Amino acid sequence: MKEDKILFLYPPTVYANHSMFKHFTYFGETIDVISRYYKNIKVLDCAVEQIEQKIIFNNFKDSNLLVMEIEPYNIDVALSLGKLYKSFNSKGKIIVYGTAITIMPNYFMKQHLFDYIINDGNFAVGILGVMNEILNTEYPYEVKSKYYELINGEYIMKGDNFQLPIKDWGVGYNKLLPLEKYKFYNNGMFELTVQTGCPFNCSFCSEKILFDKYCGTKYRDVEDIIKIMKNINDDFNEIYFSATTMTANRKWTENLCTRLIEEGNKMPWRTVTRIDCVDEELLKLMKKSGLKKICFGVETFDDKLLEEINKKQNANNVINILKLCNKLGIKAKALLMLGIPGQTAKNVFDTVKILKDLNVEYRFKEYSPIREAHILDSKNSDISDMIPIFSRYEYRTSSIPGITSEEYMELLFPTEYVR
Ligand code: SF4
Repeated sequence: MKEDKILFLYPPTVYANHSMFKHFTYFGETIDVISRYYKNIKVLDCAVEQIEQKIIFNNFKDSNLLVMEIEPYNIDVALSLGKLYKSFNSKGKIIVYGTAITIMPNYFMKQHLFDYIINDGNFAVGILGVMNEILNTEYPYEVKSKYYELINGEYIMKGDNFQLPIKDWGVGYNKLLPLEKYKFYNNGMFELTVQTGCPFNCSFCSEKILFDKYCGTKYRDVEDIIKIMKNINDDFNEIYFSATTMTANRKWTENLCTRLIEEGNKMPWRTVTRIDCVDEELLKLMKKSGLKKICFGVETFDDKLLEEINKKQNANNVINILKLCNKLGIKAKALLMLGIPGQTAKNVFDTVKILKDLNVEYRFKEYSPIREAHILDSKNSDISDMIPIFSRYEYRTSSIPGITSEEYMELLFPTEYVR
């Protein structure tokens, strides 16, 4: 195995997120793939662990490759860490990947700081492609992945479109990761990517940027999922099948549920999908196979807003499916958006009232203008002013007329919230 030392770092955030989704998947699954080919890997997840400065800096000194996962909420700190790394280690190289990089690659290229920029959702294969070039080792795949490389002050596109074969998808159950922390913050729940890409195209969503037309929609092999569930069984109490719209492929979903039933699965599972991708028959099968909670991208009950965000669903259909879940004894959860352009206080409170009347759990997430940033960035416009919007240092508490700052924050972070 290789002598080069690779440091994977998740930059710190103001506070640990209540969801470990990106830690298990974007970070953990990527590290799992890379660790099959390179053994000298050190992992620092500074977003879940308070890591001593000395440890970070000593790792900067003796790693010849720093790989950072950059999300819209940790851009500033990632840029600072990149500069620090270079001051300790001018010969060391930096690879960056993640949602922020994919959405606004030009913004990062303008910093002239990172040596390699992976600008799509095929994170692991992009990193392997770079490693092959700089560590001069054998690339495990025939086709090289696409990435930008900084050469003499200019970014040059290298490689070609290539995706990680499904059979090689990683699992965030790797001893390099601080799994005890993930387990603690996630209340004992493991998270596993079972689907990437989405056949839909809601106007606010980053999925179509991460996995574009070329990448398409892909599902993890069902037998692979069964094996992983058996492996993690002693350490985790439940599993989240991380997906964009899990049930968009009905046949695959039926197959997975049937196999879970055949295996006598005891591990409860959750997932996320759309209301137009389920019906009574499918929901019953999912329940029988261990479905504990199903999340639906509801966003709002205002049909005009739903049309504007290209959600392609209407309030009545959503209500009918939520009632159906109640009838079948399935716990549903409505995922809502706070601050959609044009949203009013009435719309927000009407949405809450409908869900309370239906006795359906819900959680709001702040509307984030990532698509707007992506479009501007693609035109090479300066988007520096938008970066603070994505941080979690501040929230756009006055973005909905008629909603006070206290109401806005309570909607986003209800005191009694349990994931
Ligand atoms: S259905 Fe969900 S994952 Fe797909 S584009 Fe819409 S919000 Fe994104």
